[in-house]
Amino acid sequence: VTEAELLKLISTLPQPASAQLIRGIGDDAAIWRPKPGEDLVFTTDFLIEGVHFTVPPYSPADIGHKLLARGLSDIAAMGAEPRFCLLSLALSPAAGPRWVKAFYTGLFNLASRYNVALAGGDLSHTDKIASDIVVCGAVPRSKALRRDTAKPGDAIYVSAPLGRDWSRYRRPEPRIELGLQLRETATAAMDVTDGLALDLHRLCEASDVSAELTNIPVRRGATQDQALYGGEDYELLWTAPPQAAEPRGAIRIGTVAKGRRDRVALNAVPVPAKGYDHFNK
Ligand SMILES: [Mg+2]
Repeated sequence: VTEAELLKLISTLPQPASAQLIRGIGDDAAIWRPKPGEDLVFTTDFLIEGVHFTVPPYSPADIGHKLLARGLSDIAAMGAEPRFCLLSLALSPAAGPRWVKAFYTGLFNLASRYNVALAGGDLSHTDKIASDIVVCGAVPRSKALRRDTAKPGDAIYVSAPLGRDWSRYRRPEPRIELGLQLRETATAAMDVTDGLALDLHRLCEASDVSAELTNIPVRRGATQDQALYGGEDYELLWTAPPQAAEPRGAIRIGTVAKGRRDRVALNAVPVPAKGYDHFNK
């Protein structure tokens, strides 16, 4: 098939539209018109065969879903509303038109739920499937949730028990609604993708604080080590003043303290900054 045929196939699939997308696929670049008074937030994420997934067990629709879900999880962590995405996809010889159709269907099904328009992208070929997505979200000016603004005395929360869940692993559910809710109360936030221990270390370092944990909520069927170091949870981790109203499902895991060398401790025992790291395996 030609690139033009693939583009035509993609354009015939049901997908969300947006009045802010002045010009989408079909020009040299997309034109997006932001609303006044908004900050835009951007994230980019890879999903590469042999690195992030293998086929099987991943279906093409799983891969399309997960690629966008990873980006949306970062948008949720910023307290932003997702707006559009740009997608680059390099196909392997094994991925023909049927694969492409299933991949985009998986992606568009998730995109429709959050009204994320596909504003553009690029297609290429390689020996293994490689995909990269840029997702843009919007927040009212200065309202984005950051990871460098936690304060001593804040309570620390996660959005669900942790530890890899094999159904969510292939089809993670981004916590968009929760992220929007947290704009009202959270002092800092991020998503848990590389393991609570490593991600909480990152938050503490960015905010120059430490974390005193008293409770690690472990998903049924997982171990505490998996909850701390496993990664791929796609849940939110945030801090908020202890008197602030907690959103439904919030699980308090500890308290923010002043910065010190052991950034994270569980019942006074240091928790190492280990987890999923592409460059240190
Ligand atoms: Mg993140």
